[in-house]
Amino acid sequence: MNRGNLIVISGPSGAGKSTVVSRAMTFRNDICFSTSVTTRKPRPGEVDGVDYFFIDQSRFDEMVRNNELLEHAVYVSNSYGTPAKFVEEQLEKGMNVILDIEIQGAAQVHSNKPEAVMIFIIPPSIDELRKRLTGRGTENEETIEARIQRAIQECREADFYDYIIINDDLDKASEDLSSIMNAELCRFEKKKDVLYSFGK
Ligand code: 5GP
Repeated sequence: MNRGNLIVISGPSGAGKSTVVSRAMTFRNDICFSTSVTTRKPRPGEVDGVDYFFIDQSRFDEMVRNNELLEHAVYVSNSYGTPAKFVEEQLEKGMNVILDIEIQGAAQVHSNKPEAVMIFIIPPSIDELRKRLTGRGTENEETIEARIQRAIQECREADFYDYIIINDDLDKASEDLSSIMNAELCRFEKKKDVLYSFGK
């Protein structure tokens, strides 16, 4: 069985990353989502172990010390990280593993795992982003402003990504994601054993 691809998805908070991934998961069964650990408090409706593993700072620091995290970063005063073991197990099983992570963590993955596929998802405009963040109604004004400023900064620094998906239309954006996955699975490196079985 072929090893799956590690797929990093970043983009401004409010770009709709998790919605795009969830939609793609409805029509593909070779995608799995890596659940991160965070010190952020759960938002209403968020479930521990599903949306995140909600942990305190001392447990987070312990995971960093024990090298249990593939990457980690601070985002608007909270710590976030990707548990490494789960990712490795799923890649071995041939799954495409999706990390929905911010740009500092993505840069760590990009340098430690150069084979990772880097995708940046953005809304069609900054005005639309502001509208989506405000409309969500889960953060206060100060946090929304901090997230908008962080979003603008992230867009400026995103030039190491391989692909950009503009999330104007959910169906189109999830198809774009799926097309990227298909293309990556057809890479020469991934298929060369089949080629060579014809004779070398
Ligand atoms: P939120 O608090 O809105 O759920 O997430 C804030 C930001 O943290 C988002 O950009 C999200 O992609 C990012 N994030 C979530 N999990 C991780 C993680 O494990 N590592 C890093 N570096 N960023 C993460």
